[in-house]
Amino acid sequence: MEALIILDMLNDFVDGPLASGREKRIIPGIKKLSLAFRSKGMPVIFSSDSHLAGIDKELSVWGNHAIKGTDGAEVISELKPEESDFVIPKRRYSGFFGTDLDLLLRELGVTGIVLTGLHANLCVRHTAADAYFLGYRITIPKNCVEALSQKEYEDGLQYLKRYYGATVVETLGVENVI
Ligand code: ZN
Repeated sequence: MEALIILDMLNDFVDGPLASGREKRIIPGIKKLSLAFRSKGMPVIFSSDSHLAGIDKELSVWGNHAIKGTDGAEVISELKPEESDFVIPKRRYSGFFGTDLDLLLRELGVTGIVLTGLHANLCVRHTAADAYFLGYRITIPKNCVEALSQKEYEDGLQYLKRYYGATVVETLGVENVI
C-alpha cells in the first residue's frame, strides 16, 4: 500500500515569508489526491516543519519560519488535516530524520510513498533520500510539488528520478497506486 505524504504546505511557505508565488498552483492536485486516499482508506500523512526558535540549525540558513506553536507552522486552511490523517512534525528537511515517520509507515503496512508539497529540491528531495535508503517506492506527481524557482523545480525532479529511481508522473490517479 502507498501513503500520501504532504510536506510543508504551511502558512509560512505558501502565504508567508518563504512563499515565492509558485506554491498555490499545487493546492488543487494535493486536495484531490488527499480526498482520493481518504476515500480508499489509505493513509494521508502531513510532514510539517515545526521549528524550535533559537535552537534549530536550519533557521540560521532560512531565517525564522514555521516556528512551533505559531500560525506560520499551521497547514494552510485549504488542506487542513482530517481526524483520520497523521501529522508528524519535523525539524529538518527530511520527514524521516528524528521523527516517527518510518515507524508509522511500517506499522501501517506501507511500502511506497507518494510525495507531494514543498520543495522539490529540498524537503521532498531529502525525504526521498531517506525513503530510498529505507526501501520505499517513491512516486511524485509533478502537479503536486513545487520549488522556489522553475530551475530548482526541474532540477529537483530530475535528481529524484535519476538518483532515487522515483516515478515522476504528470498527475496521479489513486487507482494507479493501490
Ligand atoms: Zn524548515
